[in-house]
Amino acid sequence: MNILVLNSGSSTIKFQIIATDLESIANNTDRRLARGTIERIGGEAIITLQAGEQDKKRSTAPLRDTRAAVEFLLRWATSDAGPVEVQSVADINAIGHRVVHGGEHFTHSVVIDADVLRAIEDCIELAPLHNPTNIKGIQAAREVFGAGLPQVAVFDTAFHQTLPEQAYLYAIPYQLYRRYRIRRYGFHGTSHRYVAYRYRQLKGIERERTNVITLHLGNGCSIAAIRDGNSIDTSMGLTPLEGLVMGTRSGDIDPAIIDFISVKEGLTPREVETLLNKQSGLLGISGLTNDMRELLDEERENNDRRAHLAIEVFCYRARKYIGGFLAIAGGAEAVIFTGGIGENSSEVRARICNGLEWIGLELDPERNQEHGHKTGGLISKDSSRLAAYVIPTDEELLIARDTVRCVSGVAQRY
Ligand code: AMP
Repeated sequence: MNILVLNSGSSTIKFQIIATDLESIANNTDRRLARGTIERIGGEAIITLQAGEQDKKRSTAPLRDTRAAVEFLLRWATSDAGPVEVQSVADINAIGHRVVHGGEHFTHSVVIDADVLRAIEDCIELAPLHNPTNIKGIQAAREVFGAGLPQVAVFDTAFHQTLPEQAYLYAIPYQLYRRYRIRRYGFHGTSHRYVAYRYRQLKGIERERTNVITLHLGNGCSIAAIRDGNSIDTSMGLTPLEGLVMGTRSGDIDPAIIDFISVKEGLTPREVETLLNKQSGLLGISGLTNDMRELLDEERENNDRRAHLAIEVFCYRARKYIGGFLAIAGGAEAVIFTGGIGENSSEVRARICNGLEWIGLELDPERNQEHGHKTGGLISKDSSRLAAYVIPTDEELLIARDTVRCVSGVAQRY
């Protein structure tokens, strides 16, 4: 089956077309037929497209909305420039959508019908920035591909629905949880689940024996404790703002700070929330950039105290969470790094692990240098009691596979 994977954001659509079926899932022989991004939808869109292993092609086109972008993508995919396996609309067999918030409704990926769509709409108040744009993507795909084509929703939150009450409840009046479902949900679930799955493949172990701490460090960052294959705690909360320091998000802060800033700076609570989401984290501390690559530039870090501080606070918070999650999980076999920073920066991995030798985590400097985005692998010493790995994430592949499983009526392996 050829699966179109769609990740629809407010003005950007990322997509891939992946050939996969139950047999290729079992044999790990899925094939990526195409990938691309359409940015700045609503004006002169910037389009990057790649069929198979050919070079990426960049172009621009006026695309007024999500539907126009999906139409454009279908026209390209079925043209001579698109992948040879896709000649007409009939060569796309199903669509898998990344949906950010599934609330307490969804513990697994599901085929989208009217009830599912309504439940995703119910979650809009929990993710007002993300769910509406995900819904737009679903509706646009239905209009362009026809209502007969199966569409599947894969939720960022679903993997973390196994969190026990003690991990997901905030210590606020319980009726607020009852009334509004205010609790910790967690995000990046597809990524945490994928790297835990790759780890057990690598080690040849059963899902039920998978005990790891996974760190997704990209522009957004989160950490998960996985015990017996299930997520038992994670750092993001009701929204993706809680937890680790991120590119532009603060992560954990004292909630009293919100009112304090609001009074001092004359901002509404909503404006303070925007400040915590968009102007904080690495960008906020450094005053320079949210991009870890730029902060790590040796000359910059040596000469700019705040660039150095931003990296230090980032790594300190990650180390603190690793320790906490090891405590609540009763230990783990391995710590796994993934995401743009986790995969590409041996320096950040080394700084996070520095000082964890006492719990038995000893990085191997050469292995740490050698492995990264292209080749994941073991980065700790053979003598290390707690192993460390880099495992490149592939959320799109997992979305395509879940889509196949859902439309084939096969239970998903988490
Ligand atoms: P993601 O959100 O997973 O795509 O990650 C994007 C982030 O990864 C960027 O904002 C960079 O901060 C970071 N990144 C990418 N490459 C590197 C690198 N070589 N060193 C440090 N950080 C990197």
